[in-house]
Order: sequence, then C-alpha cells, then structure tokens
Amino acid sequence: MILLGAPGAGKGTQAKRLEADFALPQISTGDILRAAVGNQTPLGLAAKQIMDIGGLVDDSIMAGLIEERIAEPDCAYGFILDGYPRTTRQAEILCELLNRQGDGDLFVVNIHVPEDTVRRRIIGRRSCPSCGRIYNIYFEPSRDGNACQNCGDTLVHRSDDQAEVVDRRLAVYREQTEPVIAYYQAQGHFYQVDGFRAIEPIYAELCRILQLH
Ligand code: AMP
Repeated sequence: MILLGAPGAGKGTQAKRLEADFALPQISTGDILRAAVGNQTPLGLAAKQIMDIGGLVDDSIMAGLIEERIAEPDCAYGFILDGYPRTTRQAEILCELLNRQGDGDLFVVNIHVPEDTVRRRIIGRRSCPSCGRIYNIYFEPSRDGNACQNCGDTLVHRSDDQAEVVDRRLAVYREQTEPVIAYYQAQGHFYQVDGFRAIEPIYAELCRILQLH
C-alpha cells in the first residue's frame, strides 16, 4: 500500500495504526533518513542539509534505500509506504523493483487535505522520539504537556516543521510530488480519501480499502 499526500496530510499517523492492526510494516522514508541523520552516517550527513531546507534527497540515493528496506523479511507479506515515492522517477523505480520481485498487488491511496490546513498541522506537530506517537499542539495535544502521554519522553518539534521550511516543503510537494497522483491514477488501483476529517473516519476508510486487497 502506498500512502500519498502532502506533508501533514496524516500519512504517518494512519500508517502507524495500520501497522499495529494489520502487522504490515510502515516504511517511512522520512523516519529512515532522520535515523541516519541521528546516527551521523554519510547518508545522514548529506541528507540533513537537504532536509533542513525542505528539499528532496536524490532519487538514486532513495532508490538504494528503499530497495534495501523492502528486501527485509518483515516486508515479505506486504508493507505500507509513507513518504515514498515523492517524484514520478521514484514511482518508476519502485515499479521496476516490484516487477523484479514479482510483487503484483500494489495499490495507492491519496489522502487529500487543503494546503492551508496541512500548513497549520505541520507547524503544530510534535512527535515522540521514543515511541513515534504524533501530537499536535493545536488539535491533539498530549495530556502531559510537552511529554509523551504514552511513554513520558520529551516531545520534539522537527527542525523541518519550523514555519520557514514548511512553505518550501509544500512548494516542492506541489511541483514534484503532486504529479505522482496522476501517474498512479492512470494505472488504476488508485483511491482518493478525504483527509480533512478526524483521524477515526479516515482510518476506517483506509481499513476498508486495505481489506479489498
Ligand atoms: P517526511 O518525514 O516524509 O516529511 O520527510 C522528511 C524529509 O525527508 C523530506 O522533506 C525530504 O527532505 C526527505 N525525504 C523523505 N522521503 C523522501 C523521498 N521519498 N525522496 C526524497 N526525499 C525524501
């Protein structure tokens, strides 16, 4: 399952729930890159500069990363892609990879949310570095203030969620990622979901779609 949608559309929130309920791994390329940044690997050091200004990491670097991840045993029965593909070139690379694996049943869900809403969602977003739970200081704050209500760790505000970087990320989304929607629409197995709703009804719709496959 590929989850498409602008930054802040709710892909990560929904993917984490699906992962827990359907035992399908969430593959968040943003999380993988942030882990590389945290570990100061060569990939992390290169990616950090790009992420900090809201750009996209090179398609060929992302291809290696995604190929390695989907070859892991936990992906054998399916996986949820969150944040990949972000360009039509990445979509083509993914298609080649899946064809090589003989992996047929790909389907795509676009979570659509108006741009002014995603902007507010991103700027208010806080996440737990330990358990990954995502909050929003405006819409869904932690009951424990700046601590995670699940595990107590201190919540973090991603450096690329600061207002200055968000506009650039949204522009990159419009220019480079939105065309991916048309790419998959033309191929079929494409679903559009209204993401301008509470988490629960969106989740219920995603579950219905997932069960069709
Ligand atoms: P995300 O957590 O999905 O919002 O991703 C955070 C940042 O990681 C993005 O703004 C990009 O700089 C980088 N990134 C994540 N996924 C990709 C991708 N598929 N292609 C290129 N860059 C990516």
